Amino acid sequence: MDTKRLPTRWLYIMDYIDEDTGTVAATVGSADDREECEGVVRHETSFYQRQGFTVLRGEACELCRGCEGGGVIGANVALRQCPQCGGFTGPFRRWRFKV
Ligand SMILES: [Zn+2]
Repeated sequence: MDTKRLPTRWLYIMDYIDEDTGTVAATVGSADDREECEGVVRHETSFYQRQGFTVLRGEACELCRGCEGGGVIGANVALRQCPQCGGFTGPFRRWRFKV
């Protein structure tokens, strides 16, 4: 499948820990393409580091914009195969940040 022709977006999740309290939290977000996602993640990483957090893990995945990786759109009885990706489920690509 040529995923370059599909409208997609990137979702990312970052886990970070507050070194003082040991509290672990996560942040999620989205971006229109991988370059933008990388920029946002780099920005968030330095933001959290300045606040005294340590980033534990960061991952992003590229999902169909139509169904967000579900392969179907609509709800309940009106469910139908996503016309944009033809029912593809899951992320097209995954990417793990270096932290
Ligand atoms: Zn889709």
